[in-house]
Parts: sequence; C-alpha cells; structure tokens
Amino acid sequence: MLLKNCRFIVTQNEKREILENKDILIENGKIEEIGKNLSKKDEVVDCNNKVVIPGLINCHTHAGMNVLRGISDDKNLQEWLNEEIWPREKKLNRELVYYGTLFTIGEMLLTGTTSFNDMYFYTENIARAAKKSGIRCFLGSVLFDFFDPSKTDEEIKKGEKEIKKILELKNKRIMPAITPHSIETCSDNLLIKSRELAKKYNLPIHIHLSETEKEVRGCIKRRKRRPLILLDKLGLLKTKFIGAHGIHLDKKEIEILNKNKSFIVYNPCSNAKLASGICPAKELKYLCIGTDSVASNNNLNLFEEMKFGVLLQRLKYKDVSAMSAQRIFDSATINGAMALGVEEEVGRVEVGKKPDLVLINKDNIFLNPDYSIISNLVYSFNGAVSDVIIDGKFVVKNRKILNFELKGVIEKISSFKELF
Ligand SMILES: [Zn+2]
Repeated sequence: MLLKNCRFIVTQNEKREILENKDILIENGKIEEIGKNLSKKDEVVDCNNKVVIPGLINCHTHAGMNVLRGISDDKNLQEWLNEEIWPREKKLNRELVYYGTLFTIGEMLLTGTTSFNDMYFYTENIARAAKKSGIRCFLGSVLFDFFDPSKTDEEIKKGEKEIKKILELKNKRIMPAITPHSIETCSDNLLIKSRELAKKYNLPIHIHLSETEKEVRGCIKRRKRRPLILLDKLGLLKTKFIGAHGIHLDKKEIEILNKNKSFIVYNPCSNAKLASGICPAKELKYLCIGTDSVASNNNLNLFEEMKFGVLLQRLKYKDVSAMSAQRIFDSATINGAMALGVEEEVGRVEVGKKPDLVLINKDNIFLNPDYSIISNLVYSFNGAVSDVIIDGKFVVKNRKILNFELKGVIEKISSFKELF
C-alpha cells in the first residue's frame, strides 16, 4: 500500500518531526519507506487531504462495560462500584461481553485508537471481538481473592489458563497481561504470585493503584505502608509495571516510580467524574494515558482525554508549564507503546515500525488554520478520524468500520438494556 502525498505526517520520532507532502510505503506488514515520489503498482491512496498520526494507545480500559454507559453518573467511586456497578456486573455473560467489547472497539476505532490495554472478565470473548475487528490489544482476566487464602491459588490458576488461551490464538495483535485488580481486593500472596506469573511469561502487570484516599488509608492500616511502597516491597516494580490512576502518591512514591521506570496511566476524565482527585502527572516521568471504562467517563475518545488531561494538570499546579500538548500526545502514543513493551513495533510513524496509522481529513474545521498540528490535535480536534490502518490493513475507511457491522452491534447492545 502506498499513502501518497500525505499533507502532514506526525511522526513522533526522536526529533518529533512533522513531515509535509511525503509518501508512506507499506510493505510486508511494515513501514518500508517514507519519502517523496515513491511508487507502487497496486493500492495507492491519495492522502493529499490527510494528516497521518500514529494510532493512539489506550492503556486502561474495561472494554465490556460500554453496555453501562450513562447508567449512574453522580456517585463517588465506592458507592458507584458497590451500588451501581458490581451488582450489574453479576448479570454479565459471555454474549454480553462479546458484543459489549465489539461496541467498545467500534468507538475506539472511530476516535483513532488502535491499541488498548484491558482488564475484565470473560477474556476469551474479548479476544474473539478483538480478532474480528482487527484491533491490537493486551487482555487480562481480573484477579482478586478478597484476602481469602483459599481463593488465591484458584485465581492464579484462572489467570494462567487465560494467558495460555490467548497465547494459543497465535494472533500477534492479541497479547495477554497479568491483571490483579487492586491492593484493596488482592492479598500479598496473590500479588506475589501475579508477579511470578508476569516474570514467567514476560508480560506486563496492570493493576489499579492509589485511586482513592480510602485505598491509601486502608493500606496503611492493614499493611502498615502506602500502596506503592507495598508493591515495591512485593517486587511488582521489577516487572513491566502499569499502575492505573496513581492519584494519591506522595513524593517518595513518585521517586520510586521514576527510578524504576514504572508507568502510571493517567485517566483524567474518569478521575474527575468520580471526584477521586488529580494524578500528579507532571511529576511522573513514565506516563501513559487511558480512559478507564465508559461507565465512569463516559466515552473512550482519547482526543478528549488528552485535552482534559493537560487542562487538569495546569489547574492542579496553577502553572501553564505543568503539561504541554506534545507531552500528552507522547503519552498517548510512544509512551503507551513503551508501557506495554511494544515500542519497537508501534507508537511512531517510522521506517521499520508496524503500520498502525490514523488518517484525519486536513480540511476538518478543527485542524485549521495549521499553525501547530499538535496543538490542533490536542486542544481542538473532536476525534472524528476518517480512516484507520492496523498492521497495514484498513479497518476503518471514510468513517465506516470494515470488519463488523456497527449498527447491528448497537441494536444488540440496546436489547440488553432490560437486563440492567
Ligand atoms: Zn479501572
């Protein structure tokens, strides 16, 4: 495939170059060449009116929860989980999670996300939806023992079984992750065994971390130390560590995260909506970005997340230099890839990388005038991308999803409403 005469290419390379009027040649599942006047006999795509960016990476999702959009909007995290979410999640089944995930993926693709990092139930069905759609993902079956020692081994066995099932798919776009739920629901032993599993299979650990003050207080009371200090003591930071939220972190915890090159996923909209607090993103060297679930956001549009993410940091620190458009765009592209350990493959538009690319119409009102493309992408653009390419294949063309019928999925989702 040849993307001919791209109006702008936001490369996200070392120099953060933005190229103008260049071609991108895609061959053998890789970006083969970027330059002028490249030629190719078969598929040539006119990109004269396109801005090409790396596909965005959403590092914290619960894909199946899209079916609960708008069900409860005004409760804090604990009440929201206990009264609204967990009772309803008991009613979930395989079919619901499959269609819920397809619905989620539809939303992500249509807003420029090409990879996501998920933590949920019925992982096999999430994998099935991901395979159908062509999206790239890391999937983990959520683990918790609620401090009941008789449940720990059972959970780890379940986790390992899920990993094997995903690996058996032999689909390079669908990869497993280890996802202990949080320190509020997992015993030390379960956390240690999760770490061992992550090491055995060389996989990322993805866990909720310091989302509320209550979590921190509870950890100090039960385990005599703060959450991140506990995870460090249990050796979790020696893995590819991804902590979702990281709101209530003290100076020492921030220092340990930075020293260990451990990633925090900044979820600004969800954190603000649940009134949990603001992540000290400015001070974190290894920062990626996520949406959390639709039930607490209420969408998965990373463009919206990026803008709000910058604005919240500026408010928190009362400082315009607290966060820049470039830094948040990095967190949604190259940093997300680094967090997941796939920075050699995705996150940049560069020769040798996999072609996970998003195309946006240059004549879109929000991209003009074009003093700064990055500024327009972060502060102005609404996320309505025109085309999405994953692994060198179109999965969205002219805003139409190619691998499944979104209308049918929306109808299916609506039919589940009475269940809740
Ligand atoms: Zn979450």
